[in-house]
Order: sequence, then structure tokens, then C-alpha cells
Amino acid sequence: MKNLWNDTEAAGYHGELGLRVYTSRLLGHDPSLVLHGGGNTSVKIREPDLVGDEEEILYVKGSGWDLEFIEAAGFSPVRMAYLLKLARLDALSDPQMVNELLTHMTRSSAPAPSVETILHAILPYKYVDHTHADAVLAVTNTTGGEERTREIYGDKAVVIPYVMPGFDLARLCAARFPAEAKAGTIGMVLMNHGIFSFGDTAKLSYDRMIELVQRAEDYLAGHQSWALPGRQQLAIPDKPVRARVAQLRQEISKAAGFPMIMQVHNDRRSLAFANREDVGILSQQGPATPDHAIRTKRLPLVGGNVDAYVLAYRNYFSRHAPSAREPSTMLDAAPRIVLDPQLGMCTLGRSAKNAAIVADIYAHTMDVIERATLLGGYRALPEKDIFDVEYWDLEQAKLRKSGKPPVFSGETTLVTGAASGIGKACVESLLARGAAVIGLDINPAVVNLHQKKDFLGIRCDVTSEEAVINALEAGIKAFGGLDMLILNAGVFPGGTAIAALKSDDWRKTMQINLDANLILMRECHPLLKLAPRTGRMVVIGSKNVPAPGPGAAAYSASKAALNQLARVAALEWGADGIRVNVLHPNAVFDTGIWTAEVLASRAAHYGVPVDEYKKKNVLNAEVTSRDVAELAAEMCGPLFAKTTGAQVPVDGGNERVI
Ligand code: ZN
Repeated sequence: MKNLWNDTEAAGYHGELGLRVYTSRLLGHDPSLVLHGGGNTSVKIREPDLVGDEEEILYVKGSGWDLEFIEAAGFSPVRMAYLLKLARLDALSDPQMVNELLTHMTRSSAPAPSVETILHAILPYKYVDHTHADAVLAVTNTTGGEERTREIYGDKAVVIPYVMPGFDLARLCAARFPAEAKAGTIGMVLMNHGIFSFGDTAKLSYDRMIELVQRAEDYLAGHQSWALPGRQQLAIPDKPVRARVAQLRQEISKAAGFPMIMQVHNDRRSLAFANREDVGILSQQGPATPDHAIRTKRLPLVGGNVDAYVLAYRNYFSRHAPSAREPSTMLDAAPRIVLDPQLGMCTLGRSAKNAAIVADIYAHTMDVIERATLLGGYRALPEKDIFDVEYWDLEQAKLRKSGKPPVFSGETTLVTGAASGIGKACVESLLARGAAVIGLDINPAVVNLHQKKDFLGIRCDVTSEEAVINALEAGIKAFGGLDMLILNAGVFPGGTAIAALKSDDWRKTMQINLDANLILMRECHPLLKLAPRTGRMVVIGSKNVPAPGPGAAAYSASKAALNQLARVAALEWGADGIRVNVLHPNAVFDTGIWTAEVLASRAAHYGVPVDEYKKKNVLNAEVTSRDVAELAAEMCGPLFAKTTGAQVPVDGGNERVI
């Protein structure tokens, strides 16, 4: 464990709450202590209210905040005196508890207080820190875990058996902690859940957390259960996996009832775990802590039998639903993690961000499982305890609060020519509708176009078959499949009359505007066929297809041939449910080709001001990249569900086309 406290940094945080923010961030910074919203911290502060009465307030982490990035506003101020009275009740239902916490805050705009608020209140220390440290879990989740925990901590920590988080846990701790705490007690271990530390100052409480977790690490190291050997020998397979990945993702999405993003993690660590001979036993014990099940489900799928997984999940639900705390409706029965000897670890979620969170959680779970196995045998909680948390109304409510997902959530699009102009605008329109996007462009700027988990920019020359295949392989590993394809990349060579047109220039235009799109269509078709909601393709054509212009022979001919190719694709792919439509934009001037100078010279050529030149169409309206992109995105959506083989102009109305 590394103690990250730094006096200079700490001096930048002011007051008791300021230092609470600082050390909370230090805890959040270490993923072996807390992950994605896990863990919580608090500080008790005496302060006067508006009418001058002084009262003790518990500032406790609010839900929806991550410790790593928390600010003062992320702490919910709750009246201590009332919390201590609540802790003495015999029973308090979850909805009642939530109501009491919300109605006893002193700032109405504060976030909902953590479900562990009452537990923080009953610990008689100014600062309280709580994490789900990997090392502690590796010990508590091992055969004989409780004795081992007592052996490690002695009087330093009170050990509490597993009880579901919430009021019951707070009440149990309220009864046992004062009875069992000794003079030297600096923490509390909750079996199969995590660890608390506390102190009079933020630094002391933080230092003690590090010290307590270090003890667990030392114990594991002393029992040859810390270092995890055997990862170096494994070679990472470089066989193409995209067809298999897309097939698996389709089956799982169908089982879920909605499309999901699936990330393939075939790093050495994941492969080493997935290739263990005992993976079918180790991975089927249960999660490291019950709250992981909300994101990861109780068990990963080992191998590829999705139907068997679904059946087992249904049985798990029917076993425990009758005795559940509240009447429960079954969640989708699809796995969120797949362990496969070739693919390593695949993780699923309704967005790339969610799939990445699942991956982070399971990466730590693998560590906990392997260390516990070395120590004496991994023991997760009985499935009933996991079920209670997975179907806990408070947790389900958090998920429901996120509302209706955007129209393309869980789906992936590939856009060519993504670094600028219409392609770049398409990326934005699709991201805004919840899709993950693979952006290809020969311009290396595409790589850094968006710093988001749901965008993958790949530098790619689409005229190279090998480059396209490599890009698809990388894209499918990142997102699991392909649902939509936007063929946009193209070139517009300068005006040349046929009499002067060089064969090389002709061929180059054909290669980019036509041949490359054939490669893309051919390679993407098997993937589009596996789209859970059926595949869609939009081709960016040109006004020059219905109304060519002199001096643009290569461009007009290449776009007309591409148009015909798309029409054939609409006919051939209809049986697979894939819709193919073409947009014909015209005079879109906010693209890379149209610099201010070019625009000015063209306008001068027609003897009109630039503004007028831009709107030379029936509607007298300027057509932007965004207009084209929005229509392309909509054509992939439900509005156009029954349309294929269509050619739609997006040009403000052109007299020659009309
Ligand atoms: Zn906890």
C-alpha cells in the first residue's frame, strides 16, 4: 500500500470538510481500495444554522459521486442527533430510511446520502473512512476467513459478520462495536464486504486505512498468496476473432432483449485467468462483494453456451424471488462477463462506459479470487445474500433513475472519413444518440477526435484491404459487433474535362470512391448480419449522381457506380434485414475542401457574395455537414425502419434534380 498523503497538496484544502474531500480523493485514487462509486467517507462537524443554533452535522458521501473526483458539494449534510435516534429503532424499511435521510439534510440541493449513512453516524469518531479493499476481501472471502481476520487485526479492528448493507447492518454495528472495541481499536472489518477506519483527523483516519489494508497484504504475502505468477508464458493469440465475437454478442443481446456493447480483453492477465484449469469452479462461486452483482451479475458465463446461462439465471431467480425482501421482477437473464480461453474476458454493458466498469470490477475480482485460492480456498457469500443485494430496491432504483436509454444505446457504428466534414458530423450525431462509434480516416487526427470510451478512432487507408480488416478486428474487440455502417470517405478531384483527364487520376478516384466501399461492404456484411436489431447502411452519395456537372467526370462516375452498388446491396441484403439507403448532399461548404479562399473565388466566379453563393438552391437555405449527418443518423433509426433502397437528396432543393 502506498500512503499518498502529501503536506503541500493537503495545504490546498481548507477546513474540516476540505480535508475530508482531500483524503476521500486519495482513497478513490487507488482502485485496489475502491472502484466506481464504491466506498464512502464522512466527517462530523458542529456548525451553527441560520438562526444561530449550533448542531452536529454528518457530512457523508452522497450517492452518484465517485470518491476519486468528489467535491464538497458531493457530501450530504445530515443531522447527527436524528441519525442516532434512528439507529435505536427496532426496524426501518429501506424506503422509510431513504425518506428519513432525505428529510433530515440541511441542504435541500445535496445528493441523496449514502445507504451506509447511519453506520457512519454510530461510529463515535470525527472522520470515518470505508473501502472495499481487495486485500481485505481476499482474506475475508477465504475458508476460515473470520479467524484469519481476527488473527491479522487482534484488537486493532472489530470484526462484524456479513449482514446486508443498510439499516440492519448499521443496527448490528451499533450493538457490537461499543461492546467489542478496545483502547487500541482503529478500524472495523465487515466480512465479505470491506473495512472501516476512523480518527480525529482526516490524516489519521486515512493513515489507519492504509495501515490496516497493509496488514492484510502482509498476511497474504506471508502465506505466499500475494504474488500471482504464471502470466508471462501466455502468448496473446492473433487469430481473427471478429466473427466469433459478433456472434456471441448477438446471442447475449438477444437473451438480454436489447443490444449491448461487448469489450474483448485478451490481455495476459485475463487470458491467464480464463485458461486456468479450475476456472469453471473458481469463477462460479460468486462476486467478491454482493454489490458487484448489480453490474456483473452473480456469475460470469464460462465458454459460449448462452442458453444454459439464461436457464440457470432463471432458476436462480425462481429459487430466491419467493423469499425476497420485496416482490421482485426478474431482470434480464443475460451475462455481463464471459470467460473464454481464446477471447480472455469479455464484458458487456448498455454503453462502452458500462462495459468498461464491469471489466474494472472483474479485473479486481480475479485478483481477489486467485489470492484467496492460494491462501486456502475462495469462498463467496451464499447466492441468497447476493440475490438480496442484486434485487435490493434501493439499488434497482439507482439504475432506473438513469431513465430511458438513448435510441442507439448498445449499438456500434462504423464511419469512414470520420476526421472532418460530413464524417465528423456523423460521428457526433451518432454519439449523441448513444451509439459507440468506430471512426476511420487516413488523417491521423481521427485518433484523438473524442476522448470518450464510446469512440475508437483508427487511422486507416480504406483502399487497403488489409488495413480495413485490421480496423474491423480492432473495432469489434472494442465494441463487440457492428450495427450501422456509414460510407462517407471520398475525394473530389479538381475540375478536369474528359479531354484532359489522366488515367491515373481517374483510377485513383475510382479506388477511393468506389473500390474501397466494395471492400468495406464485403467485409462488414457478415457483421451487419449479426446486428441484434438488424444492420443498417447509409451511403453518402452526391447530387452529381442524378445531376452530374461538366468537369467532374471521375467524381460523378464513381459516385454513380457507388450508388448502383448500394442499390444492389439493398436487394441482396434485404433478406438479412439490413437496410441500405443513400443520401445525396450538395453544396456542403463547411468541409475540409472548402477553405475561405476557395469559397470566395467560386462566389466571385458566379458574381455573387459568398453568403448568397452558399444558398444557391430552391429553398435558399445553407446545407451544413450537420444537416447531412442528422439525416444519416435518423435513417439508421426507427423512423426509416421500413425504408431500404431509397435515395434522398439533402441539398435545399435542386432544380435539375427536382
Ligand atoms: Zn460498503
